[in-house]
Amino acid sequence: MSALLTAPYETRRVLDKYGIRAKKKFGQNFLIHGDIVRGIVAAAGVTKDDCVLEIGPGIGTMTQELSLAAGQVVAVEIDTTLEPVLAETLDGCTNVTILWQDILKTDLPSLRDTYNGGRRLKCVANLPYYITTPILLQLLRQRDVFESITVMVQKEVAERILATEKDKEYGALSLAVRYYSVPRVDLNVPPSSFTPRPAVDSTVLTLTLRDTPPVEADEAFLFALIRASFNQRRKTLANGLSHGFSQDGWTLTREDVVEALAALSLPADVRGEKLSLEQFADLANELEKRRKCGNSAPSPARNE
Ligand code: SAM
Repeated sequence: MSALLTAPYETRRVLDKYGIRAKKKFGQNFLIHGDIVRGIVAAAGVTKDDCVLEIGPGIGTMTQELSLAAGQVVAVEIDTTLEPVLAETLDGCTNVTILWQDILKTDLPSLRDTYNGGRRLKCVANLPYYITTPILLQLLRQRDVFESITVMVQKEVAERILATEKDKEYGALSLAVRYYSVPRVDLNVPPSSFTPRPAVDSTVLTLTLRDTPPVEADEAFLFALIRASFNQRRKTLANGLSHGFSQDGWTLTREDVVEALAALSLPADVRGEKLSLEQFADLANELEKRRKCGNSAPSPARNE
């Protein structure tokens, strides 16, 4: 391994040597402070028994620390111009494999099977902020692939993730995170910990994946319902869902939704942003019952 990158001058030396300018289009903000990097790895609880997926190793700053702490590290990086840099900074790190590809197109179960014999991975990443939500949703849905996900995100995204139905930041992401995991705040990170400095504060979170969801409902239906509710945020659920919901050719009428809400003792004019995960699950189950009894009709009939 070359000199550790967790000192600002070493990071700048490497960037200068390879003439690298951080690419905005890939969300590149490189960490430069050792205490933050070590803090993230410690928060993730990485040990030599672990195989870690790192998303976006960049110039290898956190990868070096992960290599020291973990048994195996698989790092997925989209920017192939960083290849010569990582060849230097990770020289001798025999437990690190770099895959030059897009994380959103990566087959995660096959990484688990190939690099950790089918045992679950820990994910540790300073995420590219432009695709935080799609990456998080992709990771969370793979509860058989990860035991925990420790990620640096924009502070505002952390607030959305941790929000409850009492907060204005509450939305589909808060619900998805709660459904799949138990979130925890590890540390807050100021812009001065990166080069270039991002315009926003950052927060490191650990999401510990649940073995089973905290509510019982058809997962695909529940999330289709949640998405439709928050797509029409300003509308009441009855109006939003009767116009914005469709799954496998089924749609809902205003009456379906109002009756289901009444069965749950919820007001007819309630908005989605006021419902907890448990209430969304109850609503999904109530609507599902009606669908099975034939109270809801397939959408072609509705359009006539
Ligand atoms: N881990 C490094 C650090 O902490 O200094 C760099 C973090 S930087 C915020 C995000 C990294 O993700 C960059 O290296 C960027 O090139 C990479 N990246 C961006 N989009 C990606 C994608 N779709 N798949 C894989 N890596 C991606």
